[in-house]
Amino acid sequence: MLASLPMSSSLIDPPVASTVPASEVFTAAPVATRLHATVAAQLATPVSTPSASTAPAFGTEARPFGVRGRKLSVHEVLAALVEDGLVDAEQARIAGDYSRLSQARRHALVEIAQRKLHCVKPPHQVLDLETLSVWMAGRFGLELAHIDPLKVDLSRIADVMSSTYASRFDILPLGIRGSEIVVATCEPMIDEWVDELSQLLRKRIHRVAANPADIARYVVEFYSLARSVRGAHKSGPANANANGFEQLVELGRSGRSFDANDQHVITIVDWLWQYAFEQRASDIHLEPRRELGVVRFRIDGVLHSVYQVPPAVMSAMTSRIKLLGRMDVVEKRRPQDGRIKTRTADGREVELRLSTLPTAFGEKLVMRIFDPEVLQRGFGDLGFSDDDLARWNEMTRAPNGIVLVTGPTGSGKTTTLYSTLRQLATDEVNVCTVEDPIEMVEPAFNQMQVQSGIDLGFSEGIRALMRQDPDIIMVGEIRDLDTAQMAVQAALTGHLVLSTLHTNDSASAITRLLDLGVPSFLLNATVLGVMAQRLVRVLCKHCKAPTDGEPDQRWEAMIRPYKARRPQSTWRAVGCLECRNTGYRGRAGLYEILTMNDDIRGLINGQPDLSAIRSRAMRDGMKPLRLSGAMKVAAGQTTMEEVLRNAPAID
Ligand SMILES: [Zn+2]
Repeated sequence: MLASLPMSSSLIDPPVASTVPASEVFTAAPVATRLHATVAAQLATPVSTPSASTAPAFGTEARPFGVRGRKLSVHEVLAALVEDGLVDAEQARIAGDYSRLSQARRHALVEIAQRKLHCVKPPHQVLDLETLSVWMAGRFGLELAHIDPLKVDLSRIADVMSSTYASRFDILPLGIRGSEIVVATCEPMIDEWVDELSQLLRKRIHRVAANPADIARYVVEFYSLARSVRGAHKSGPANANANGFEQLVELGRSGRSFDANDQHVITIVDWLWQYAFEQRASDIHLEPRRELGVVRFRIDGVLHSVYQVPPAVMSAMTSRIKLLGRMDVVEKRRPQDGRIKTRTADGREVELRLSTLPTAFGEKLVMRIFDPEVLQRGFGDLGFSDDDLARWNEMTRAPNGIVLVTGPTGSGKTTTLYSTLRQLATDEVNVCTVEDPIEMVEPAFNQMQVQSGIDLGFSEGIRALMRQDPDIIMVGEIRDLDTAQMAVQAALTGHLVLSTLHTNDSASAITRLLDLGVPSFLLNATVLGVMAQRLVRVLCKHCKAPTDGEPDQRWEAMIRPYKARRPQSTWRAVGCLECRNTGYRGRAGLYEILTMNDDIRGLINGQPDLSAIRSRAMRDGMKPLRLSGAMKVAAGQTTMEEVLRNAPAID
């Protein structure tokens, strides 16, 4: 997996792929180191890079303050901030007065962050908790660890120390590497636990600093979760079925009540979903392996190994999820599918589409996450240029005909179709779909699921829909002649048909239909246009850095046969907290839109030649995928690597 994912390989060390025994693997520590390196790099770089404007220029020399064995007080921290010239005496006095009035016993940095002081030094950024944590780590000569919940091996946490111990000292074990234990602290003057733990566990303790709010939050979450995993491990899968379930699982509500001992599995599943949503994952994979179960998230198109659980726990999780998805829990030998509607902690509705597959070591479950808000996004957010959108609208606003979207699985075809249909689905029109499976339930459409068991395929589905007085029909996919013929018939009888095909580019969609057996005159009479699409990752705007531009040959090779001067400067991926150190955040589409016209119809009538169709279309204004990508590179939205990796060459 890693070989094909150069962007993520440096970031994620998947526990499963490592040669270290699974029980010894902890990945939080390397992240801490790398993160520190990033922070240090930001500190060392003057204002020339975009990230430096948000990174404070603190000294790097360790100068501890406070009283050994005691928590840092607000006044000690303020005094040190004044000493470093980050806060002036007057600001410090006012902030100090506030904290005297406040009754809450919070960490000194949390208290000061609340005041939202502006740094005296340019660029006068707000001293928020993250900034203060970076500063504090520097003053005590510690690395600053960003706690990534997806990289902490929960099953080992509880072995290192109890939750009471962790809370008492405001510390959190993050990982074990070899003979060393990495422990995060937010009270660096309290260190009596270092010797104590080191003797007890016979390991060296590596202290790192962390944001106090993160420590407080994760001490609670990690220990509750570790307890759940253990509890579930002990009681086995039977436990999962002991509770009544409702179709709508309120994550925020149940996720925080950690004392219910019989809720282990529920807690784990809720936690898993919550983190998947927080991390913007599009898919969750639960994969049984010989020794353990592996949980992976797909984020921006790339899989990340995030978690390992004992096989019994994974099977309990799978059972619970199947139950919520109204699937047959007992049946484990047949593939099944289902769906669940749930909510995120902040109340957004999310739909999960489930599918199971029997594998050598048990049932594998994949949950595809659909965030309905995605469909609310405009075409601009999907990556359409103004020109793309004008061409696309022209086709889809036609009263009848066939519009095709083409590309491999996972290229965003469904999102495009749903977004388009949503705009077309007014009160005056009847929008019907035949899908396999229904990707997302949309109230404005009449959706039908293909059911091969009762001979309700795509073509039968269209036939049935035609009697339902439709205006616009969306057909999930055209795979065979029957479906193609029904689509043609629907178009000929005054309907607009939208569908997808699996071809490399837009021109190949035409030859594919001819290969299926659609006569060229019918194709010419019905097809309005074809759009090919791909997704590329979008550069994280918090950390992307300018480069001197790509070498001329590389640029020319990418856009051949087009000629365009390479942009003076392009941007490269860096990596920061906002993007999980990948340098990218979110994805956008590349589009290649072929509009049918008489010239192209003429080519199809004779002996259809793919390259002739392609070059005619390009002369008529079709931008090939690579060119569409080049424009996004020039606009600083993505990188050449992404375009080369995702868009086929122009030939
Ligand atoms: Zn970033």
